[in-house]
Amino acid sequence: MTFFKTSILFPLLSFIALFAIGVYGVHSFGSVEQKEQRLLLDEIVNAQASAIERRLTRSLSSTYILAQEIRRSNGNFQGFDKYADEVILTLGGISNLQLAPNGIIERIYPLPGNEKAIGHNILSDDARRKEAHLAIQTRSLMLAGPFDLIQGGTAIIGRNPVFLKKNGQDYFWGFVSALIFLEDLLAVTELDQLRGNGYEFHLSRLHPDTSEVEIFSRSGGNLGAHPVTRRINVPNGSWILRMSRPHVLQSYYKALGIIISLVIAIIFSLLLNRIIREPERLRVVVKKKTEALEQLAFHDDLTGLANRRFLSGQLIQAIRNLKRHEGHIAILYLDLDDFKRINDSMGHETGDRLLQQVAQRINNTIRDNDIVARMGGDEFAVILLDLNTPDEARIIAEKIIENVRRPMHLDQREIVISASVGATLAPDDSQSIVALFRNADLAMFDSKRAGKNQFSFFNIKMQQNATRKLLLEEQLRQAIDKEEFYLAYQPIISLNSYQVEKFEVLLRWRHPQKGEQYPGSFIEVAESTGLIIPISYWVITSVCHFIDDQQQAGQKAKPVTINISARQLKDERFAERVEEIFTITGIDPRLVELEITESMLMEDIDLAIKLINSLKRIGMRILIDDFGTGYSSLAQLKKLPVNALKIDRSFVKDLEKDISDRQIVEAITAMAHKLGIEVVAEGIETKNQLHILKEFGSDYGQGFLISKPMSANDACKFNLFTNIGNSEQE
Ligand code: C2E
Ligand code: MG
Ligand code: MG
Repeated sequence: MTFFKTSILFPLLSFIALFAIGVYGVHSFGSVEQKEQRLLLDEIVNAQASAIERRLTRSLSSTYILAQEIRRSNGNFQGFDKYADEVILTLGGISNLQLAPNGIIERIYPLPGNEKAIGHNILSDDARRKEAHLAIQTRSLMLAGPFDLIQGGTAIIGRNPVFLKKNGQDYFWGFVSALIFLEDLLAVTELDQLRGNGYEFHLSRLHPDTSEVEIFSRSGGNLGAHPVTRRINVPNGSWILRMSRPHVLQSYYKALGIIISLVIAIIFSLLLNRIIREPERLRVVVKKKTEALEQLAFHDDLTGLANRRFLSGQLIQAIRNLKRHEGHIAILYLDLDDFKRINDSMGHETGDRLLQQVAQRINNTIRDNDIVARMGGDEFAVILLDLNTPDEARIIAEKIIENVRRPMHLDQREIVISASVGATLAPDDSQSIVALFRNADLAMFDSKRAGKNQFSFFNIKMQQNATRKLLLEEQLRQAIDKEEFYLAYQPIISLNSYQVEKFEVLLRWRHPQKGEQYPGSFIEVAESTGLIIPISYWVITSVCHFIDDQQQAGQKAKPVTINISARQLKDERFAERVEEIFTITGIDPRLVELEITESMLMEDIDLAIKLINSLKRIGMRILIDDFGTGYSSLAQLKKLPVNALKIDRSFVKDLEKDISDRQIVEAITAMAHKLGIEVVAEGIETKNQLHILKEFGSDYGQGFLISKPMSANDACKFNLFTNIGNSEQE
């Protein structure tokens, strides 16, 4: 606020000061200029007045010359015309010269145009009488006019009375007059030219009769301000010349000067304002940029939530506070279930909007001082502060799960998504951020494993599991190098002929410490670490060698089915690589069949169809493994170009007791046959199961009843000796 006041005050003051200086400057400059102009005007007026005075004196001097001549000739003046002509030529400015003995005009030179005046008695003319008598009285030259002449024009007349001597006595002889046109008189001045330059003038006199000011010559307009007055002395009186300068010009410059001062003052004060505000402006810009950078550095662009970095900072702080106070904090990890399915089927834009809604729902569920962040992808984390009991974390987590699960409306469709949540507590589980994040992640994975859409608290078993997995991963790596894997072959028989038709190959691991290991104990880790890929290629190659060995031994090789992992489905070059193995080993691809579990196929059905087609193109047969455990509908099965399906062991197991399992198996078999798909029943342990399956129409059977998986050697020699088909005897 104070800054604001100062920042506006300085420019304002500077504006006032500058403008005042400008106006003062303009004013002083104006008055100096005015003074100068006045002096100049004085000079001009003086010059004009003097010129008039001089010209008048000079012109009037003609009357003295003529008077002298009359006196010399004692009133008998001969050769007036010639003399007058000479005088007019010499002195100039005279219109005519007149002789008026006894006041009566007798002679005029030049006469033409003035004839009317001859015989005119000046002394009896009302208009002229006064000056004429005064001239006689004062015995001096008198000036009459200006007046308008009978013959036109304005003129003045100088009348010089001539006195002669007779008998020692002076007597009045008459007048010698000179008529001067006003126009001629003023022609010696520069008044005309000055008028052209905007000067105004009035030439006036005090009327001898009325004593009023009579302007007898003037410029066109009125006098401006501050006119200069100069008296012009004329015989028997004075004229007045008043002049003014063109004033418009001066006020125009003054106004211009003030406008310029105003503009300069405004520009300068604005500049000053800018300069004063610049640091503040920069501070604001820097602040905004810093905020934007912080937003970028600590927030997630898509959801506007905090990001992992921000959350970590907050968690460090919260743990520090924990050490000072009692209580617990909980770290929740939330991962959406099957989000990929939405992203793939509805597009990333819809996926993004879904994430935004989920973010909002989590945010609305937690308390004000709790913190929620998006950790990346479809993963979120929440820090719940100030918990009195760990159970409060469970309540909030369950509320989050419930809110996320509420239907969402996106793209005019109702979408339901669930979330798996894991939680860990500080200081109970750990005080290390790394450990807490890892614990929450483990707990979240536990929720996923337990069937998704649920909540798990971290426990030490999860930690042990994780450690075990790490160890297992390490051992698996070594197992590949040390060739600790081997294969077991389980026969598959035709339920029509009870002959061994093919084998399923199953992976085994000879663990250096633990002995023989089944896939159930390591396949998941092999999948999650990607180690399954090199293992699988080894399996396929080994199977090719097994077939080759049989053929080399002159036997008719039976087809072998191989289990394929989800990882390989995603490898675009999988079919190509398998084909490569066939080329290298020289094995007929029709002798190798691939089993893909139903749940794997359903993860990305389009990708699966593409892969199946490319494998079938090579000539391989494809089976759906563990059918009935996934979620494929009949319609989806129709889309899958598979050759056979294997009914999952779980259905076979309870076939005898569970009527619904029986119905399912019967339905699956009938449906598969309708679609031209063969049916293999796996996990047959009893003859009863075998007979039920046969009755339902299963084409093939596999299970401990027929044979347990065996070594390659045993498999080559394997023959069915018992009559397992004979149930009636059981
Ligand atoms: P699967 O493909 O369903 O294989 C059948 C499993 O059932 C085998 O277990 C087999 O030993 C077992 N089995 C067969 N008949 C019976 C029976 O009558 N009773 C009982 N209780 N079990 C029976 P195994 O060998 O432990 O394999 C488990 C799973 O591991 C397989 O299930 C398969 O999904 C996976 N697997 C095995 N070998 C490989 C492999 O080379 N690659 C991949 N990716 N997965 C494999
Ligand atoms: Mg299988
Ligand atoms: Mg199976």
